[in-house]
Amino acid sequence: MILCNKNFNSLPLWDMHVPITSPTLKYGIGLFEGVASYFINHEMQILYLDRHLKRLQEGVKTLRLDYDFDIDRIAQAVQDTIFDNRFQETVHTRISLLLEGEGEINAKGPVSLYIIPTPLSQRNKSKDNLSVQISMYKRPAETSMPMRIKSIANYHNSRLGLIQANYDGYDSCVFLNDNGKVTEGPGCCIFIVKDHKISTPSLSSGILPSITRQTIISNYPYNISEREIDYTELLQADEAFFVGTSTEVKRIHSINGHVLNGGTLCERIKSLYEKIIYYDSTRLNRN
Ligand code: PMP
Repeated sequence: MILCNKNFNSLPLWDMHVPITSPTLKYGIGLFEGVASYFINHEMQILYLDRHLKRLQEGVKTLRLDYDFDIDRIAQAVQDTIFDNRFQETVHTRISLLLEGEGEINAKGPVSLYIIPTPLSQRNKSKDNLSVQISMYKRPAETSMPMRIKSIANYHNSRLGLIQANYDGYDSCVFLNDNGKVTEGPGCCIFIVKDHKISTPSLSSGILPSITRQTIISNYPYNISEREIDYTELLQADEAFFVGTSTEVKRIHSINGHVLNGGTLCERIKSLYEKIIYYDSTRLNRN
């Protein structure tokens, strides 16, 4: 049995319900974060919980939710929930803010907090070395939807792109924006390598401000360029890889059937990220 948390009360997973009348179910209004924790040195440790909660807080403001965001209290509840389950493996914890009640499309509350941990052994194993399609679906422009936050509704775009890619025989996809520039994948950011130089789409290309992306940029000893990336650059890249909290670092071997030349920088970033997980994860804070 997995112990979860709703509004600071510990509950088993099967007691977590959202009313059928809720604006979250009617209109897809809500936010979430996914935080990773790892079994390191015989105890569960968590990676960058503070950064994930800050991004969630930005989302509350952007979606104009009526929610008194107590960051310390939420951080404690997340850590308690992971601790109470006595996990001994990698766990992905979803922290959601969902609208309850019977409100309409302009509802701002009431908001409920849900904390739901899922051990890695209960998740679908994702493949390494991906074949990727450039999606026919464009990433919505910031003037249409706030793509910088983890709003549930934003994921409709990722879902359609991924399903189409799978139908067409690819493992995953990458989205362009309305100007034809590269943005990101479904639930992950992208880096490309050309002539030993690493680049990643700038935040203003229309991507989520990914915590993994920023961590890699800050820790890699050489410059990683954040800039607009053209479609053709992807096809001509020597290497490309996806990054994200649950993705970690995953090599892309081909794009629209073009096999990438290959190289060793993706492996370097992978081992850098393994070290980051080991050294930057922190022990669960217990009251
Ligand atoms: N882009 C999108 C759309 C995502 O959902 C995610 C996963 N949170 C990412 C990028 C990667 O972000 P992070 O490194 O913060 O997990």
